[in-house]
Amino acid sequence: MPRIVIELTNRCNLSCQHCFSGRHGGNTDLPLAILDHVLAEAGLLGFDFIAFTGGDPTVYRHFADALARTSQAGFQFGMVTNGQNFKMVYPVLLEHRDHLNVVTFSVDGATESSHDKLRGKNSFRRVMQAASICMFKDIPFSINMVVTRNNQHEVAELAELAAHLGSRGVRFGHLMHSPITTADGQDLSSEERKRVEAEIADLQRNSAIAIAMGPGYFTDSLFPCAPLQMQEVNVDCHGNLTKCCHLSGHGSPKTQRDVIGNLAEITFGEAYRRLVAENDVFRETKMRHHASGQFDETDYFPCWYCSRYYSKLDWLRSTEPNVWQLALR
Ligand code: SF4
Ligand code: SF4
Repeated sequence: MPRIVIELTNRCNLSCQHCFSGRHGGNTDLPLAILDHVLAEAGLLGFDFIAFTGGDPTVYRHFADALARTSQAGFQFGMVTNGQNFKMVYPVLLEHRDHLNVVTFSVDGATESSHDKLRGKNSFRRVMQAASICMFKDIPFSINMVVTRNNQHEVAELAELAAHLGSRGVRFGHLMHSPITTADGQDLSSEERKRVEAEIADLQRNSAIAIAMGPGYFTDSLFPCAPLQMQEVNVDCHGNLTKCCHLSGHGSPKTQRDVIGNLAEITFGEAYRRLVAENDVFRETKMRHHASGQFDETDYFPCWYCSRYYSKLDWLRSTEPNVWQLALR
């Protein structure tokens, strides 16, 4: 299902260790006029699904209005949330049940201590309560977990917990490097990542629910994800069309080459055309790097390659030496 990820806001009610400053702690809400603009044009380009993110989408000042406009425009939608406000907002979701595909909760560990270490005190209890509400109200939900050094041994336990809660499935993802997680030693080495991926592959074969690995896992495929296949685009809370939600807000304000254009200034169609052209250049460059032997081990983790390509990791050059820093070359 071709989708548009829309960051409704960069405000958030948590301050997670692995978040980028561009994604939380701000005070910007997407103007509703930009949302209207996207909803009016996106269908013509084949998009039929809107995935709301943030910050946390539930703190968006026009949350109810955004869902109503999206449903009225005929789109299916989902959202990724930390679950902290869910008790307050789920009645709004129920109003649009016919258009709601899934709510995805971010749960970064099977235990309160590992989740709260990354996401803050009491956040685990509140997201568990949110999952219980979904089960009770028959709201479809799934779980995303970011794998870190701290929770790497909990993937099977998390899959079991998710099945017990009634989740549709679990999607695991590697940590995108951030200054705090790097300083805290939470980034796994490439060998450690591959070991966890093998465990997740095993779970995929044996779990009662759907288990997936998000983009960023070790692969020979040069273009393994929806954004690189032009099946997913991102709109940030400033109204910019950007390449990918994983890169959005990552790096310094100077390293925003993944920002394609602002939808207050150009049409969605024009921004999309520019993104297609940018993606063609990216693909050609990546193929050339690969063919000329410029790839090393870490470049087979596609989100790492993208982070380097878009210069999101300059800060990493001045940290204590580690395997990822050395791979920056
Ligand atoms: S990771 Fe999500 S929930 Fe945590 S601070 Fe960032 S935007 Fe908020
Ligand atoms: S960062 Fe790159 S590889 Fe990762 S999901 Fe985004 S476009 Fe795909």
